[in-house]
Amino acid sequence: MQMLEKLYRYLQRKAEPLLPPRKLVVIEGDSLPAEIPMRTVVLARDGQEDWCVGFQCPCGCGRTIELLLIKEARPRWDYRVDDQGRPSLYPSVWLQTGCKSHFWLRKGRIYWTETSV
Ligand SMILES: [Zn+2]
Repeated sequence: MQMLEKLYRYLQRKAEPLLPPRKLVVIEGDSLPAEIPMRTVVLARDGQEDWCVGFQCPCGCGRTIELLLIKEARPRWDYRVDDQGRPSLYPSVWLQTGCKSHFWLRKGRIYWTETSV
């Protein structure tokens, strides 16, 4: 990996506790918008059904992470939102390719796991 890229990712992680928590934004439909702002978690809801959540990879690699919420999906995730609009996700997110980030999203904040270096 390039030095600068490494430094950037390091700084992203260091800055995380200093920045405001991520907010959940609900959109109508079964797919996510092409552009998701940093520090926003988008929930795609079609009628009564929650389809997926999407957000930019918190490591700063620029990738958009899309996680399915529908019951039929494998793997699938559950989310919760607290009264301040801060989302949590269960289980953790572990990317198998690219940056291989592994983290929890809890109350709008990223908690890195030990396996993600
Ligand atoms: Zn990443």
